[in-house]
Amino acid sequence: MKNKLAISFFLTIFSFSILADLSKPTSYSKDLYPTPILTGKYNESIDHPDQFLDFGYAERVANPAQISAAVLAYAQQSDRIKVVEYGRTHENRPLYAVFISSPENIANLETIKANLNQLTDARNTTDSKANSIIKSLPAVAWMAYSIHGNETSGADAALGIIYHLIASEDKEVVDMLSNMVVIVDPMMNPDGRDRFAKSLEQYRGTAPNYDDQSMLHTGDWPYGRTNHYFFDLNRDWFYLTQPETQGRVPLINEWRPQILVDGHEMGAQDTFMTGPPREPINTNIDKDLIKWGNVFADDQARAFDDNNWRFYTGEWHEDLYPGYSFYIQFRGSLGILYEQSRMAEDGVRRPEGTIQSYKESVHHQFVSTIANLKTLQMYSQEMYQDYWDGRKYNVSKNGEYANQTFVILPTDNHGRLNTLAEKLAAQDIEMFTNSQPLNVGPTLQQSGETVENYVIPAGSMIVPNLQPEAPLIAAILEFDAEIIEPVLKEERRQTLKNGSSIMYDTTAFNLTMMYGLEAVTVSQNLQRGLTKWKPTKGSNTINPNALMWVANGADDRSVAFAARLMELGVEVRIIDKESYLSNQNFTRGSVVVIGMDNPSYKGLSDTVQGVASELDIAVSSVDSGFGAEELPDWGGRHFRLLERPQIAILSHEGFSSYDVGVSWFSLDHHLGIRHSQLNASSFYGDLRRYNTIIMPSGRGFSGAQMNALRDWVEQGGTLIAHNSSTRSLTFENGIGSVKQLSDTFDKSADYNIELQKEFEALDLVIDVDKTNAHKIDFDVAYPWEASTSKYSKQELEKRDRWQSQFMPSGSFVAGRIDNEHWLTFGTPDTLPLLYSRIPVLMTNSSSEAVVRVGEIVDSDAEEYRSINWSDMPPGKDLNVRMSGLVWPEAAQRIANSAYLTRERVGRGQVILFSGEPNFRGAALGTNRLWLNAVVYGAGLGTSSRISP
Ligand SMILES: [Zn+2]
Repeated sequence: MKNKLAISFFLTIFSFSILADLSKPTSYSKDLYPTPILTGKYNESIDHPDQFLDFGYAERVANPAQISAAVLAYAQQSDRIKVVEYGRTHENRPLYAVFISSPENIANLETIKANLNQLTDARNTTDSKANSIIKSLPAVAWMAYSIHGNETSGADAALGIIYHLIASEDKEVVDMLSNMVVIVDPMMNPDGRDRFAKSLEQYRGTAPNYDDQSMLHTGDWPYGRTNHYFFDLNRDWFYLTQPETQGRVPLINEWRPQILVDGHEMGAQDTFMTGPPREPINTNIDKDLIKWGNVFADDQARAFDDNNWRFYTGEWHEDLYPGYSFYIQFRGSLGILYEQSRMAEDGVRRPEGTIQSYKESVHHQFVSTIANLKTLQMYSQEMYQDYWDGRKYNVSKNGEYANQTFVILPTDNHGRLNTLAEKLAAQDIEMFTNSQPLNVGPTLQQSGETVENYVIPAGSMIVPNLQPEAPLIAAILEFDAEIIEPVLKEERRQTLKNGSSIMYDTTAFNLTMMYGLEAVTVSQNLQRGLTKWKPTKGSNTINPNALMWVANGADDRSVAFAARLMELGVEVRIIDKESYLSNQNFTRGSVVVIGMDNPSYKGLSDTVQGVASELDIAVSSVDSGFGAEELPDWGGRHFRLLERPQIAILSHEGFSSYDVGVSWFSLDHHLGIRHSQLNASSFYGDLRRYNTIIMPSGRGFSGAQMNALRDWVEQGGTLIAHNSSTRSLTFENGIGSVKQLSDTFDKSADYNIELQKEFEALDLVIDVDKTNAHKIDFDVAYPWEASTSKYSKQELEKRDRWQSQFMPSGSFVAGRIDNEHWLTFGTPDTLPLLYSRIPVLMTNSSSEAVVRVGEIVDSDAEEYRSINWSDMPPGKDLNVRMSGLVWPEAAQRIANSAYLTRERVGRGQVILFSGEPNFRGAALGTNRLWLNAVVYGAGLGTSSRISP
């Protein structure tokens, strides 16, 4: 008895002492860095940030719930603040913009905004009016933090900044607010921050950890940087695919702040970096902003000097890609980047032996913020003046944007076109349409060719560049962002010298190519006689008594229509050829629901109607299944039965979280159907549950896992792989016969012959007399005999090694599609492909090249001409580059290779994408190929299963 008691007493003490350690982790942040961040005289009726935390302010990372609680409490405690919830994340966390100013200004926000907006459209405001508005306007600053969830110090600084600005009684602060509206967006990515904050809890030990390699500092897959679907929100500012950006951008655009600060973190062993950026800088950015960037950086540097903190500007910070927060610069506002070295928790030990604390990193962001606000206070009026000059220039008949109009050609893909219109409207871009064809002068096509005269078909979407948001319009719609010669030289020098690049992001991004929409650029201002563009929409009220209902395959939503109906147990067919039924034309790939296929389905027409309404897609009611002459009839082989996809995405460690995330996002948001994400590191489950497996880009599988996957394919599965996973499937022990270019040089001639078959089939010339002759023809021409130069295997290898250095880092190349293949439903004949260092694929006679690199165009060449392994026949040329930096060597290397392949393997199939078709949720052109693969693959590409 006595013993027992003693033991239990001992256990109590022991476990109590462990609990005490775990519940109160030792943070030495404040000991390492005793300097207070919040100083001055504060209003005592406003809660200090410590009140919302279970540690001292800035000593550790505040989680999103703590920051939100503080923001909501402050909204009640001060009359200097107004809190606006501008959105909710996927995980339903609130997104706040915190407006801070003098109580008078806070009461007057709507008037301030209205005045500000009069400055933006120089078509309706005179100079004298503008000048009087400028005199009355307070400065407006947008201060935003921690868009990358694991770059935490910014949001902690924001918490202190909000408190400091609303609670400080210092004259300096009160004066500043009397003439400034500060809008604080304290944490732009609460879902990512929460994921990271949770991992800080999970990997916390009892002692502080200063090792930036430990999991405490790094977190783990999929890491905290991204949002719920693993999107990098700082690439989404004009693609606008995520609720965070979709909520934020319209509010920023409404407020037209003079500066937008974007507080990030970078590598732990770095110091602190801010703007202005170095080259490449997008040429559509107003040079005045660079000037102002230097003024702000100068003051900020001085504030750092005063504290003895290290600091630099520019270096790796460039500004070609318009999808960063710096999209704001194209609208005339100054973007300011902070990059603080990342401390995460406690602190980080540096090579010189010192430890930099988390608290100090928060202090850097805090001091930078205050320094920038002071600079703005000083120069606000001058900056408004420059802004106004810029706005006048944008709509000036003599400006560089005056004689340019972007035209998106009419399409039956209403879903995609309406999505484009939404993105443009969110940026205040005006769109028009023409009811009559328009004859215009020189017009640039997406292929790069300019035609002297062009007719714009009626019903086009017309975006004149001459309007208030001219620079942004040019940045996101011009086919090519200008890359100046010194930048090209420096890029090539770096590539040759050490294989590196000065391009921080993709070099091509224009929305029409991204969306796979055909567009032209007219070199004149079109505005007269046009009407405002309205979303196009067909009727989706169906006739419940029709023989069948059809959704046009041109519209991307038709894929979701099919997927959701199959999910609901409806039998669905697809017409794999263009058709004409009951006086209506349907594009190949149209989706059909027939009553006869669903004899026992209760309420079929209601279900069809319900899905059509949900997707807002036009659905036609058809009374006859007769297609005239050679067009498909409903009982024929072109009305093909689909099979419900049962989908798994391979996920987790070893796979690219971005590519997993966009695939998951597309299934959820483009289709809205069930699927499972499988943890591939324990990939030994029962694969028979799925008929479609998606393998996002990743490092591939070991032998046993590869064998399991191969068996599953051979039994009827559809395997869809991207980028690095595609690479792993094309190795010796992969699945199927598709190879990478570098493994084919000993059989180049055979691959070329396969290609020549395709060329000849495209462009047939038949001598009827010879064909009908009875005697043997001794002069039959064979493509390989006529081709001129053939490179040896050694020469091809040498060229390939050299060319490989120059692969693009995100540029559009022209894809030519097999326009009879089911994978290309809803796809134009020339499809822009976002190309980077991805595997160069080669197909032989047992695999199909569904999309190849290069658009075939006419030429005067009279002979065969060789590009590495392939030949272009007489009269033909090849367009490869569409947009962005593609070195000529790279264009040669990838010419005629496959981007998308499909191969039958056993009863199943393998579909390989060389790239990542769902890139950033914005690559809608290639996303359609992928949706076709996912939803139609099981039905159209494998042996159908018949229940016994
Ligand atoms: Zn960042």
